[in-house]
Amino acid sequence: MLRSALLAFFCCILTLAQSQTSDLADLPPFAPEYVESVCALMRSFEAASHPAPDPAIVPEWQQWSTVENFAFGKNRGAMAMITDLDALHPYFREKVTALIEACRAKGIELAIVETFRTRAKQNEYRSMGRIYTRSNGGKSKHQYGLAIDVVPIVDSVATWHDPVIWKKVGTAGERLGLRWGGRWRHPYDPGHFEWTGGTSTAMLEHGIFPRVPNAEVYPCIDEELEDLKISWEAWEAEQAAIAEVRKASKNAMR
Ligand SMILES: [Zn+2]
Repeated sequence: MLRSALLAFFCCILTLAQSQTSDLADLPPFAPEYVESVCALMRSFEAASHPAPDPAIVPEWQQWSTVENFAFGKNRGAMAMITDLDALHPYFREKVTALIEACRAKGIELAIVETFRTRAKQNEYRSMGRIYTRSNGGKSKHQYGLAIDVVPIVDSVATWHDPVIWKKVGTAGERLGLRWGGRWRHPYDPGHFEWTGGTSTAMLEHGIFPRVPNAEVYPCIDEELEDLKISWEAWEAEQAAIAEVRKASKNAMR
């Protein structure tokens, strides 16, 4: 009797202490046994609301939108750029959507230049010189779906060199908690935004993703990231193969 009363007392204290000291971000959003059923429910809802093509026939990554080299009036290398928001980390994707909407509210239309970027593509940029990037493959947040490049479109033209517009775009991104490349000098990269949640590149390289602050909104984040990784790896294999062929034909021409 005394034991159970004591236990109840301790549980009460523990619950109180927990509710006072932790914010939502520190608590798992659902008990593990619920996560699976919540995710299964979400999947069935997804399937019913937009019946997707059979992934065995058309893998998701093959449906991602891409653009070629000079699409935004600048040399961006020979390999295609992935412009699809679906290729981004789900939490960051929502930040980017909010950024696009915030800019639209100010009368600024943003185009997506590049979202996820393969290591092969990153290495291509690296080979193009330091004005493009200082990071080798695997070192850019683009390789983890945690960075994006955008450009304002004015009168249907990509406008890369208007500091007044960039300032407004950068401010909007920073208000959303994103890191803005317009603060950098080597290279100055005002179209670049990223979110790392305090995670270092080394951690990302080891497959450790940042913790999402409002985890309760993303009960299936681990599942989604697993699916994304499969698509990222498929793209990587595709672009790495293209890079190999290009390299071989270049060597053959020498
Ligand atoms: Zn970038």
